[in-house]
Amino acid sequence: MTVICWFRRVLRLDDHPALVAAAQDRPVIPLVILDPAEARDHPASAQRQAMALPDLDASLRRAGSRLVVRRGDPATVLAQVIRDSGARAVHATQGSPFAGDAGLDAVAAGAGAQLHLHPLADLVPRGSVLTGGGTRFKVFTPFWRALRKMPIAQPLPAPRLSPPADWPHSDRLDWPEARAAMNRGWDVMARHVQAGESKAHDRLEAFLGRVDARYGARRDLPADPDATSGLSDALAVGEISARRLWHRALHAQDSGRGGIEDFLRELAWRDFARDLFDEAPDMARSCWKPDWNRFPWRGDSPDAAAWRQGRTGVAMVDAGMREMYATGRMHNRVRMITASYLVKHLMTDWRIGLDWFARCLTDWDPASNAMNWQWVAGCGPDASPYFRVFNPEGQAAKFDGKRRYQDHWLKPGADGTREFAAAVPRAWGFDPQAPALPAIDLGQGRQRALEAYARFKR
Ligand SMILES: Cc1cc2nc3c(=O)[nH]c(=O)nc-3n(C[C@H](O)[C@H](O)[C@H](O)COP(=O)(O)OP(=O)(O)OC[C@H]3O[C@@H](n4cnc5c(N)ncnc54)[C@H](O)[C@@H]3O)c2cc1C
Repeated sequence: MTVICWFRRVLRLDDHPALVAAAQDRPVIPLVILDPAEARDHPASAQRQAMALPDLDASLRRAGSRLVVRRGDPATVLAQVIRDSGARAVHATQGSPFAGDAGLDAVAAGAGAQLHLHPLADLVPRGSVLTGGGTRFKVFTPFWRALRKMPIAQPLPAPRLSPPADWPHSDRLDWPEARAAMNRGWDVMARHVQAGESKAHDRLEAFLGRVDARYGARRDLPADPDATSGLSDALAVGEISARRLWHRALHAQDSGRGGIEDFLRELAWRDFARDLFDEAPDMARSCWKPDWNRFPWRGDSPDAAAWRQGRTGVAMVDAGMREMYATGRMHNRVRMITASYLVKHLMTDWRIGLDWFARCLTDWDPASNAMNWQWVAGCGPDASPYFRVFNPEGQAAKFDGKRRYQDHWLKPGADGTREFAAAVPRAWGFDPQAPALPAIDLGQGRQRALEAYARFKR
């Protein structure tokens, strides 16, 4: 009996529960479905996935199999491939936090196959880290303490695969809708992406070979590219599992590496976000604290447009926004600074920022993105208090004192400035030689945010 393994953002062979289940003694058709709607809404993430496909296909071919790629609406395509192949079962990873699963079992059954959904290989199953009272945690630190005491399952080795007698048709390993949506940005971003499962493992080993006790402090310095693992994009597209990271990191710790405990704690934030998202799947649209849905944030505006285009006149904010547009990444500390500036100084609805990050990030993850935006906005479960307004200039002085990061993205003629100029739509009219724009008065912006907060509290 031939079965389909639908690779949903698990673009790897290692530690892949759905693939292990599919491979048990049966010919497997490995399938990836590229949804044009996803490319339209999340072009950078779509490009990142598209760039992972050749490596996945090569790994499958080395294992005597190959990748079948189809473009279109996932439910329609799935039914089509089931009919084309005569498969009787589909093994897939559950969609959350990226997609829903509702109705897929009926679609599969209508085409003649049974759908089996498998959990993601996160550190722990969702909803399994519980308080003494049996409820989920709302605050990270106790969640982390409880998680740290739990056993983390060992990653599953890649299974042996047997090919079907006939292969269904495959489209090319390309995502034209993602190319179209990225436009000029595709080539620039491609230079910053290291795609593929084996590269993700290499990057992990390189990181574990250099990390030390300074990790906790260094990870705040945006001009230090070696300070962190840089693996969030590989995790988001599933080139490597969190469990694999965890166990490799523990091994490094046993061999005497410093900084690992802090690294594991960071990794646990990702599971925490997924746990919150599991409980509140509308977290990307609705404030975790319901009162905050009445907060008088501003809607979209020319100020928000200037923020998106990296021309607010506030150097650290513009540098971060440019880094993200050109490379698909933004340093974590700078994400906090740019997000805070948008929601506090510009008083803009956090969902406007969240949506822009969801378009531009190669590591876009709906749960992490929503949790972090709500943290910055002050409306999340474990949020930074609203009255804590980051001063972007103070932050820049503290974490980029020599201006290496800011200069790279802002100085005329600098490499980052040239890359940003090459990536942005011509309609933005970006002039790399133009002097920086005057910024709003940061003190007044802060005051305005605090007054709005005080009124809201009253
Ligand atoms: C406003 C905002 C939006 C964000 N949106 C996303 C997003 O869409 N996708 C995403 O993966 N991360 C998001 N983050 C978290 C964080 O910025 C990135 O995970 C981090 O920059 C990744 O770099 P790294 O892999 O080198 O991290 P490392 O320091 O090497 O950390 C290891 C891993 O831990 C996890 N991690 C670390 N910090 C966080 C965090 N604050 N929240 C959740 N997981 C974390 C990531 O999976 C990361 O790869 C966001 C942060 C902010 C402030």
